[in-house]
Amino acid sequence: MSDASFPDKLVDKFGRHIDYIRLSVTDRCDFRCVYCMTEDMTFLPRKQILSLEELYQVARAFTELGVKKIRLTGGEPMVRTDVMSLIEKLGALPGLKELLLTTNGAQLDKYAAPLKAAGVNRINISIDSLDAERFKRISRVGKLEKVLAGINAAISQGFERIRLNSVVMRGYNQDEVLALSDYAIARGIDIAFIEEMPLGEASDHAREETTCSNDWVREQIEQKYQLVNSASRTAGPSRYMQLVDHQSRIGFISPVTHNFCEDCNRVRVTVEGRLLLCLGNEHSVDLRAILRDESKTHDDLKRALIASMDIKPERHFFYDKDHAQPVRLMNMTGG
Ligand code: SAM
Ligand code: SF4
Repeated sequence: MSDASFPDKLVDKFGRHIDYIRLSVTDRCDFRCVYCMTEDMTFLPRKQILSLEELYQVARAFTELGVKKIRLTGGEPMVRTDVMSLIEKLGALPGLKELLLTTNGAQLDKYAAPLKAAGVNRINISIDSLDAERFKRISRVGKLEKVLAGINAAISQGFERIRLNSVVMRGYNQDEVLALSDYAIARGIDIAFIEEMPLGEASDHAREETTCSNDWVREQIEQKYQLVNSASRTAGPSRYMQLVDHQSRIGFISPVTHNFCEDCNRVRVTVEGRLLLCLGNEHSVDLRAILRDESKTHDDLKRALIASMDIKPERHFFYDKDHAQPVRLMNMTGG
């Protein structure tokens, strides 16, 4: 329901229009990817995380303030108990144009059909290697064949523009850039290469040694394929290139080497209900405190979202020693 006393869009103090939220539905995961988690993870106690109802309330408040796009992430969204009931409710939210999911794909063979029926428009599936042993080394526990089955299930459900996500790391999978591209191209789906971000301490490697720049990744692809600028842009750190003579696009998510903060259109909500205004900064608002305060109303929640726009930082500074680096791991941030 729209209310004349509330604005119909969220605009920060740099004039950026925020119409996209990434909502983390869990910090847990059935994988332990080396760039995302440590081997021995301690997850949040249940009472600290937002209930499905609280997550829905946050999503509803955002859509009432003009947010058009919600991406569910985590952790692994599909390990949250009863997550489908939340997804079905989000799929029916008035005003929401796109409901998206980022997943490790391990359970998509089971969930692709119900996700499609619930109104999920697009799915990003993470896959860093096509070699089963290596896949296991990177994810520490994941089974490649489950993810490949999940990708096939998503394709057969006919989701719009399925995208694979690959984090390219020197010493792990940098020699698979072409194989991963070939795999996506053969299936007519997109693939995005992600620069490893320095979020929290990675327990088994020094990130400065493993991070591969996307300029380097692009050179590898151009040894085989011709890339042209794509008309489609997504605000934020990703840029797409179209492959000549192929349906697939190649995305480059380059938060480390390229700073696209000036057209950032998004904020994140962690599963603890912390509204993070920037991936690379700690500026945040405690939404859980508002949700659990009986004296506060849904309108108070919306007022807090509007007020948060004043503290959205202008940009992030990864690997800049003059600026504090985030201490959160990606599973807490909501990738
Ligand atoms: N579990 C789901 C998955 O893996 O797709 C969703 C959450 S995961 C945190 C979202 C994305 O973040 C994945 O594509 C993952 O590869 C990426 N990611 C995790 N840690 C990262 C890091 N330190 N740097 C760059 N990307 C990272
Ligand atoms: Fe889990 Fe995704 Fe993090 Fe891998 S990247 S550990 S699948 S949350």
